Amino acid sequence: MTYNSKNGFVPLFQYIKYAFFILCLLFFSLSNADPFKPDSSFNAMDYKTTQSIIRDIRANKLDYLKNATQLKLAFETSKIQNWNKLHYQAAALYAELLFREEKYDELHLHLNSYLEIETLKQQTDVYLSLLEAKLKYLSRQEDGIPAQNLSKQLEERLSNSTNNEKIIILRALAYYYTSIDALKRTLNVSHIGLDLAIKGNDFSSQGFFYRKIGDAYSVSGDIDKGLEFAYKAVSASEKTQDGHFTSKAYWSLGNALLGRDKDQEALEYITKALAYFTSVNMHAGMAYAQYSIATILFSQKKYDEAIISAKNNISLAKSAGVFDMQLASMILVSDIYAEQNQLQKANDMSDKVYAILDKFSRSFYKAEFLAKHYQLKKRLGNTDEAFDAIEKQLFHYKKHFEATSANNIKTLQVKFEVKEKEDEILRLANENKINELKTKEEHQQKIIWRLTTALALILVILCLFICYRQLQQRKKYHVMASTDYLTGCPNRRGIMLMAQKQVNEQDITIALVDLDHFKKINDTYGHDIGDLFLIAFAKAAKKILREDDKFGRYGGEEWLFILNTTSKSTIKDIYKRLAECFLNYCIDVRAENPQIEWSVTFSMGAAISYSNSSSNDIDKLIKQADDLLYRAKDNGRNQLFIE
Ligand code: GH3
Ligand code: MG
Ligand code: MG
Repeated sequence: MTYNSKNGFVPLFQYIKYAFFILCLLFFSLSNADPFKPDSSFNAMDYKTTQSIIRDIRANKLDYLKNATQLKLAFETSKIQNWNKLHYQAAALYAELLFREEKYDELHLHLNSYLEIETLKQQTDVYLSLLEAKLKYLSRQEDGIPAQNLSKQLEERLSNSTNNEKIIILRALAYYYTSIDALKRTLNVSHIGLDLAIKGNDFSSQGFFYRKIGDAYSVSGDIDKGLEFAYKAVSASEKTQDGHFTSKAYWSLGNALLGRDKDQEALEYITKALAYFTSVNMHAGMAYAQYSIATILFSQKKYDEAIISAKNNISLAKSAGVFDMQLASMILVSDIYAEQNQLQKANDMSDKVYAILDKFSRSFYKAEFLAKHYQLKKRLGNTDEAFDAIEKQLFHYKKHFEATSANNIKTLQVKFEVKEKEDEILRLANENKINELKTKEEHQQKIIWRLTTALALILVILCLFICYRQLQQRKKYHVMASTDYLTGCPNRRGIMLMAQKQVNEQDITIALVDLDHFKKINDTYGHDIGDLFLIAFAKAAKKILREDDKFGRYGGEEWLFILNTTSKSTIKDIYKRLAECFLNYCIDVRAENPQIEWSVTFSMGAAISYSNSSSNDIDKLIKQADDLLYRAKDNGRNQLFIE
């Protein structure tokens, strides 16, 4: 049969394909060998629901045990759907759930299968959470070596981890160190963990570390500190929805309160813890809580109730594998019998404890028991056994005190170091801040100082410049005010100032000059030509006068001379030279303006003044010179009159 889309061969092939597919599905659903594969009632969740359950339990917004079914479903669904990343997160949560459910064998299998997955190791926080569960599991085993090895492995990872990862590691280590009665190390890691948990706002871990620290303080005899940290553990845990951790904190606080004889308050917290442990059927927790309640009943002298409760607790603790509680409850039963003077019964129970004493986790518990055991044996007259007990008791007390005294010192050191570190960090931060501010301020001050200096300098330069300009201006105005604009020689004001000054200081001659018939020049050739003659006269006067002789334009075509002489012949000589020189300049003017047909002459009146004379008033002198000038004019012009 060849292939033909029209002849029905293809549809037949398709049917076979579908049938094979359905068979496969049937096979898979029946071969439910994997315990995590859903059974027929399996109800898969969608991705979002799975994700939100895992996320909320991880963030301690949902309680593990109370949401156990949901968590298991999320764990299974994520596995079937191959949502690997989510599934590994669920696997870590599932490990913690199994631990809380006290399903230790199942936990062991679970951890072994997941810790081998290479891709899971890349999700470091998940991997570390699984290792944390493993260390907790191993801590419960008789053989301490695997736990010790894993704890070392985790310690080594600490330095290369992020804060969040460190918290997981430190939590695991704190659990392990407590289990081997290493208080010193418990305190150490818990303090570091607490610091990180506070920084990371991780209330669940804060609660855990507070509780570990509080318990360590209580065991090492610092009851006040124990109580303080137990309260802190409760308040941090209450911020989460993690009932298990919160109840442990309640129980811890209850015990710390019992140590302070606050039975009523203690009972409240322990009852709360018991309620939770009972609700989630957690035997270990129930054993712890019930033991505390039995102790309270005993202290309240309710012997019958106390003995029932304690006896119940022996089997409960045993089934939960909590040996400390099993033994403690047995001791309590013995104590109650002893209190009721039923010494034989007390002795029987005490002997039972004595036989399995090594199951106690702490030497302190052993020593405490042996003290009671000794008393009982003494009361019963069993000297040998009493002696044995006291010897052993001493041995265990010694062990405890060796550990705790070192712990106490270390505790103080740790506290001190932590405080010191905090103070140092705070101090450095403050110092840095102050230095930063100082540098900033200094920098700003420098800038302000530089700006101010620059501005001041600019202002000074500006002021100096303005002053200089003003002085220059003033000088210029002064010169302008005393200078004749046409000829550049001193004007009437200028020459008068000089004359007034000199007339009192030395013997001088004041001479007035007036150009002859000057009006005619102006009228004939115009003012411009007249100006040329005025300029020519000034030039001639400048040329022939000596340094100490002065002259200026007194007005119009009149000139005032201050001659530093009283000699008439010198005056005459000056007049003569001036006339000659002026004539030469007039010739020059005429050469340039050929229309001019005649040269200009001048007349001079000179009045001699002596500085010691009483008549050296400048106005009078000028008047005298003016009179002489007019006499020269009258006398025909172009001549000199001296007096
Ligand atoms: P006298 O010999 O009697 O002095 O005859 P005068 O023509 O010079 O008569 P007067 O002194 O009365 O005339 C002066 C003339 O000088 C009148 C005026 O036009 C002329 N004058 C005055 N100042 C200036 C000037 O700055 N430039 C010119 N071009 N002429 C001037
Ligand atoms: Mg005149
Ligand atoms: Mg004149």
